Amino acid sequence: MKIRALTLFPGMFACLNESIIGRAIKNGKIDFEAVDIRAYSKDKHQKCDDTPYGGGAGMVMTPQPIYDCIQSVDPGHDYLRVYMSPKGEKLSDRLCRDLALGRDLLLLCGHYEGVDQRVLDLCMDKEISVGDYVLSGGELAAMVVVDSVSRFVDGVLGSAVSHETETFSDGLLEYPHYTRPPEFMGLKVPEVLLNGNHKEIDRYRRNTSVDLTERLRPDLLEDKADGGV
Ligand code: SAH
Repeated sequence: MKIRALTLFPGMFACLNESIIGRAIKNGKIDFEAVDIRAYSKDKHQKCDDTPYGGGAGMVMTPQPIYDCIQSVDPGHDYLRVYMSPKGEKLSDRLCRDLALGRDLLLLCGHYEGVDQRVLDLCMDKEISVGDYVLSGGELAAMVVVDSVSRFVDGVLGSAVSHETETFSDGLLEYPHYTRPPEFMGLKVPEVLLNGNHKEIDRYRRNTSVDLTERLRPDLLEDKADGGV
């Protein structure tokens, strides 16, 4: 899968070079690049922001560099073009799966007060939010999308089944994990996990999942009853 993040701060995306996603990029499962919008500015100082018409605080990203950057990266409109925005559809497990199965992704990262509305009207297909709070830029949000979507791309996770047992995959929170040692600071690993009886272990994990979900996220069980998640 190809993902392009359009940004004024490409260096921020260095985080993606680490760990599981870093490996997926290195071995070509994910073809990721952060594209510097500033390189497309026709302003003699490569300026990419200006004061808002109508007044008010902050700066707005100008349309020309973004427009030209999009035309250069995606001249045939092959990518799903997404603007990272607190006004967008809230990112969820379902949306991540859908995005992973869909077209290549172009993620536009706003900064400052945001982006001139005309470039959004002209170029974008969709807006995605990572939650009901405001970030200072779309870069962290875009990295959340790259990470969470990549997990559903074939070959990115070590074991093909790993994301099928995760929290949200079946509308439940995942059961707790334990590893060695069997006792730590007086706390023991639940006996059932040590006895090697896989039927009992499955039953224990399922029950703990349901209990946790009832306690911490009862809304997920309602969604499940409605056929959601
Ligand atoms: N003035 C805007 C917020 C601008 S924040 C408003 O009130 O709606 C600057 C940039 O950060 C935005 O252009 C957007 O790209 C990004 N951003 C902020 N919060 C976000 C969120 N919750 N999800 C995704 N992107 C977000």
